[in-house]
Amino acid sequence: MAIETVGIVGAGQMGNGIAHVFALAGYDVLLNDVQQDNLTAARSIIEGNLDRQVSRDKITTQEKADAMARISTTLTLPDLGQTDLIIEAATERETVKQAIFEDLVPHLKPNTILTSNTSSISITRLASRTDRPEKFMGFHFMNPVPIMQLVELIRGIATDKETFDACLAVVERLGKTAATAEDFPAFIVNRILMPMINEAIYTLYEGVGSVRSIDTSLKLGANHPMGPLELADFIGLDTCLAIMNVLHDGLADTKYRPCPLLTKYVEAGWLGRKTGRGFYDYRGDGDPVPTR
Ligand code: NAD
Repeated sequence: MAIETVGIVGAGQMGNGIAHVFALAGYDVLLNDVQQDNLTAARSIIEGNLDRQVSRDKITTQEKADAMARISTTLTLPDLGQTDLIIEAATERETVKQAIFEDLVPHLKPNTILTSNTSSISITRLASRTDRPEKFMGFHFMNPVPIMQLVELIRGIATDKETFDACLAVVERLGKTAATAEDFPAFIVNRILMPMINEAIYTLYEGVGSVRSIDTSLKLGANHPMGPLELADFIGLDTCLAIMNVLHDGLADTKYRPCPLLTKYVEAGWLGRKTGRGFYDYRGDGDPVPTR
């Protein structure tokens, strides 16, 4: 199964990072979103991030130009049907993802591999809505994609060995490292990380510490590069809440109950960095200011 062309659904923070690393590794990339503005923004973010790599001598100006030339965009989802590998990286909502796969299926080549970058949703359930559960798996990148080394590869119950091996070869060509996870809610990274973030939000909610004291404690006391609340803002609070809900529903254990304060921030539209405000306010010129 030779993979040369890649379709990416969703041009948000993950989709543009995924397009960036595939184009740099020599794959032809077709990036899709429902909004032209997001596609335009994604191209300029990718270009800015490639420029940063050029200025740090990580890549040459020619490599940057070649990578940009390999990325095309489209608002028409069926255009992705002729690619060898599709990575769905749209909003973390099962109904959204299901609709995308249902719309794609009639337009796919027989051998196209379907994958989702979902942080938590059942790969087996998403696969069951397609015509090819054996050619479906989880391809979970970490944020920011050009910097983070790990890719979690998640096998659905029906995923065949050929598909898994083809995706593993892709991870290797990207110069990244794969970890294999079985298909249970939130897989490995978020099964461990998200309850820690949720507990940090409970710590804030119960008044044990302020935003700054919680983040400083984990940075200096546990040697984490980012505090948990800073990290939650970076991931997106809507995504954090969606993952906690999947853990809570899927494992039916009260220890995964999403913190009501997380729900309140999401209801306010304070989703973190991507909306300018979350546990910190990023809208000013100076350092982010804690919102509690
Ligand atoms: P985001 O909100 O930045 O971007 C989502 C994009 O999907 C938006 O541009 C939106 O317009 C687009 N979209 C929505 N519906 C669509 C549709 N029907 N067709 C095409 N595009 C559509 O979200 P994100 O942080 O990039 O997350 C995307 C996926 O990656 C989610 O499944 C998330 O769980 C997963 N993920 C996120 C992180 C993270 O740290 N943010 C890390 C790993 C995986």
